[in-house]
Amino acid sequence: MITVFSARHHAHAPAFEIFRGDRVPCFETPARADFVQARLQERGHALCEPHVDSAPVLAQVHTARYLAFLAHAWDDWVAIDPANAALQPFPSVWPVRTLRSDREPANFTARLGLYSMDNGSALVAGTWAAAKAGADAAASAAALLRAGERAVFCCTRPPGHHAGADFMGGYCFLNNAAVAAQALRSAGAARVAVLDVDYHHGNGTQSIFYDRADVLFVSLHGDPRTEYPFYLGYADEVGAGQGQGFNLNLPLPAGCTVADWFEALERACARMARHDADAMVVSLGLDTFALDPISKFALRADDFSRLGQRLAQLGLPTVFVLEGGYAAAELGVNAVNVIEGFERA
Ligand SMILES: [Zn+2]
Repeated sequence: MITVFSARHHAHAPAFEIFRGDRVPCFETPARADFVQARLQERGHALCEPHVDSAPVLAQVHTARYLAFLAHAWDDWVAIDPANAALQPFPSVWPVRTLRSDREPANFTARLGLYSMDNGSALVAGTWAAAKAGADAAASAAALLRAGERAVFCCTRPPGHHAGADFMGGYCFLNNAAVAAQALRSAGAARVAVLDVDYHHGNGTQSIFYDRADVLFVSLHGDPRTEYPFYLGYADEVGAGQGQGFNLNLPLPAGCTVADWFEALERACARMARHDADAMVVSLGLDTFALDPISKFALRADDFSRLGQRLAQLGLPTVFVLEGGYAAAELGVNAVNVIEGFERA
């Protein structure tokens, strides 16, 4: 399977994040994609650079003011004080209920809060370059699919599925899965199905397509009552307006068994099959792995092969987009097991 990969992901390498009230080394590191790249090469998979500029699709998926903020955020931060170049900005104020989010304040911290759902997305000088390379990879994968490829894997980071139309969050800045889905639609696919198998609910992707019937969103994930992102991902979120019935959430209790997970996957696949899609995008989070340091599902390396096999049975041209997965050293084997399971089926 062709993999779209850009070494520009290295530009996003924050020194720390905030976790349980403390500064800790980032869980979302360049090593994650490096381990996947190494495993792909070891197994003889072809890698290619992104060849499509995602800017037109990004303008359909994200708001203009959010894209403008993100593209210039680092320069704006350093313009406040050159000493900021050695620091990482984090939001400290947010427009929650009763506060206005229609007005963009001039103050940098206020804008950072306006465009963030949490303080979990460390921003550095190279964040935009890395995130843009990921979005370009997603747009390129869609183009390869439309050119006749059966499946394409985007080995990208930072991940994307928590990023909404106008906000970053959960290590995510640009929503690569949404870019892939929208690019497929723009290139002529009448219906697209997005399946999110990351441990965490893909709140950004859901919200971007929530009122649309052309892009089905299906997610299996840790129950938001106890698991991030907490404020979205419940079973009663079924879509709105034209999109009513085109959003399916399958929350599972933290600590559920592998059998429970695959049973939910069957329900997801049954709904996907009914959508009669022309193409599928898989938000491939691998933090469902038993040894993941921040998640509580129990999948093992072989289970990822089984996942790939099951997805292949849907018979759809497929873009895989790398999302979470924080057991970095095992990420390569787990990701490539999905890819090879898919290819073998
Ligand atoms: Zn995740």
